[in-house]
Amino acid sequence: MYINGKWITTDTLFDVHNPATGEKVDSVYFVGEKETEDAIKAAEKAFKEWSSLAAEQRSSYLWKIVEKLKEQREAFAQIITKEMGKTIHHARQEVASSIAFFQWYAEEARRIYGDIVPASAANKRIQVIKQPVGVVGAITPWNFPLSMAARKLGPALATGCTIVLKPSKEAPLSSIALFKIFDEIDLPEGVANLVMGSSGPIANTLMKSKAVKKISFTGSTEVGKVLIGQSAETVKRVSMELGGHAPFIIFDDADLELAVDGLIKSKFGSNGQQCVCPNRIYVQEKIYDEFSEKLNKRVRNIQVGNGLDEGNDMGPLINAEALEKVHEQVENAVGLGASILNGGRKLSDGQYAQGYFYDPTVLANVTDDMLIVKEETFGPVIPLIKFQTEEEVIQRANDIEYGLASYFYTTDLSRNYRVSEQLDYGMVGVNDALPFAVQAPFGGVKESGMGREGGKYGLEDYLDIKMISVQI
Ligand code: NAP
Repeated sequence: MYINGKWITTDTLFDVHNPATGEKVDSVYFVGEKETEDAIKAAEKAFKEWSSLAAEQRSSYLWKIVEKLKEQREAFAQIITKEMGKTIHHARQEVASSIAFFQWYAEEARRIYGDIVPASAANKRIQVIKQPVGVVGAITPWNFPLSMAARKLGPALATGCTIVLKPSKEAPLSSIALFKIFDEIDLPEGVANLVMGSSGPIANTLMKSKAVKKISFTGSTEVGKVLIGQSAETVKRVSMELGGHAPFIIFDDADLELAVDGLIKSKFGSNGQQCVCPNRIYVQEKIYDEFSEKLNKRVRNIQVGNGLDEGNDMGPLINAEALEKVHEQVENAVGLGASILNGGRKLSDGQYAQGYFYDPTVLANVTDDMLIVKEETFGPVIPLIKFQTEEEVIQRANDIEYGLASYFYTTDLSRNYRVSEQLDYGMVGVNDALPFAVQAPFGGVKESGMGREGGKYGLEDYLDIKMISVQI
């Protein structure tokens, strides 16, 4: 752990394993309530000075982080692949997006503007300023271990907040490497603190603390709901980036090659373990057979194996539990009438023996009563669902508690606007399976969360608004 500018050890160590090989990658110290309290105190103490710095000074620290990350980009990619299994190609993309986040917030730190509001009386002046919320508690998942941390640390540091970060114990190593950079650039002590260990004691300490003014969480809807409940006691600001169940709709006027290519890229990134992964693939009846044939040809060619091998397209799932959950969904679908076009099995022979590999899977004739249509899959399974009309597919796509990403393919300009506006999702990709950028707002509606990360919107979540009325 890194608390108050120092590396701390405890009596308890835990091992991080490579999900492709089962090998131990490293050991990490575990902390509990006491160390978390120390981290909060350090962040509280550092807040006054850090928030008083000129924006340009804070920005200069973020630029140094950008430079160091650029120098070490390949080392970071290797760490990500070893700790959570995504291919080295995808890990390099994650490092690139993390650099882009820090760079964006290094630039934006200097553009936190207020307003002058016309008053109702001639002898009054109203001014609106924006100030950092204070100490932030940040909790991140294992599937994007570096970029989810960057998406929180960037705006927190840019706005003048101080922060206590708790990464997932499944993949804490990229956060440790990032904090080594903070140490190297002499980020003032207490500004950013890192705690790792059992999530219950750490999260409870953050949630109970009156000093922690905001919680920024990325993870499952289930845990997000618990944190929202706990935040009531001290009325914390909450930003929640939660689970998703993205519809991916292909209308019969779509460019099918483009749609197949987009689906492959979007579905198998991070080995199917992304909150924005397409989870329900609605294909219009007239093109259903042609589309499934084209798709299946591509899926059959996906190379599965250790993510460190440059030739592989997809790595393992994070752990045995994840593998079981994916397989259960496939078995449930098959039991209720779905047919397997490809895959549908765990891979356990030869090179796969020590890892958590699943064969890239395509299921046909999927219906709304199957688990896979209702629950987040978090694995490399494409369920194909037939639909007839635009009205019907919008209703089915929206009929779920999630509202994170959604996608559709069409060449009809009017349909583009009509459907985009009617989908109850925080993000819509039209003929675009990767509609994400650091300068754009990322986030969901309904039970997929609240608040936005990325772009100018990502800064707002770390700022309080203050109105100052002056009688002259
Ligand atoms: P998770 O189980 O909710 O864990 C997320 C984080 O919360 C981890 O640091 C975890 O620590 C911690 N945690 C677990 N139980 C907790 C508890 N009771 N109280 C407080 N903290 C707790 O989610 P995950 O399996 O890591 O990640 C997958 C989920 O994240 C999926 O649902 C995915 O859709 C979602 N996600 C959303 C976004 C987005 O931007 N909307 C992005 C990525 C992922 P430990 O792992 O150490 O237990």
